[in-house]
Amino acid sequence: MRVTIWNEYRHEKIHAEIAALYPDGMHAAIKNGLADHGITNVGTATLDEPEHGLTDEVLEATDVMLWWGHMAHHEVDDGIVDKVQKRVLEGMGLIVLHSGHFSKIFRKLMGTSCSLRWREASERERIWVVRPGHPIAQGLPPYFEIPQCEMYGELFDIPQPDELVFVSWFEGGNVFRSGCCFHRGNGKIFYFRPGHETFPIYTQPEIHRVLANAVQWATPVAGPAYPYSQKGSTRPVAINEREALEPIGAASDERVRVG
Ligand code: ZN
Repeated sequence: MRVTIWNEYRHEKIHAEIAALYPDGMHAAIKNGLADHGITNVGTATLDEPEHGLTDEVLEATDVMLWWGHMAHHEVDDGIVDKVQKRVLEGMGLIVLHSGHFSKIFRKLMGTSCSLRWREASERERIWVVRPGHPIAQGLPPYFEIPQCEMYGELFDIPQPDELVFVSWFEGGNVFRSGCCFHRGNGKIFYFRPGHETFPIYTQPEIHRVLANAVQWATPVAGPAYPYSQKGSTRPVAINEREALEPIGAASDERVRVG
């Protein structure tokens, strides 16, 4: 299983406080967290690399991609976004982190505005597991806390998640669907809310556990890949009547005779 962590990697270069928290970028902290859980076949890619580090070779080889973006969503090339979407439909897992809720790729895959309410007041977040049997909840307590965070509140304008794993409560009274699973084509998508750049959230053990669980959950399975495995086209496929699994019309002939 091959993982690619995509990070915008701008805040860490511009803001000294953030560089102090993440000297090698948030992608490096996430990579360390995954390694703690035995996930070591992990590459990284960033916005300012050619093709944002997402060449056809990288995309083709990636089983699960993590995506952190915030201040430069608009700089992500639409052609790359299309390629990432295609890979998700083919089966690549995608884990969208924090402010990635407003990334081009997440909005494209959701089809809604993905807007929300937010507040920067360094408040406490309590994350409740509301789907305890889910693979992403494996090894977690009933709830865990982030001492200081940026608040995201409802209404979060997403489609109804296929599975809701986490709900967050915030000190200021807001709530948020903070762990949301979706299926698109053959691919699995997990949105995970925590990850504001001014707090050391990607060094927290519970966060590492969730990300590692999510990578395992989002890994492609060898199910029937039809129709997205047909390279280059997802158009509806015409099936000739002679290819039908049973003779068509036999049952209705029967009914006519009985009647
Ligand atoms: Zn943020």
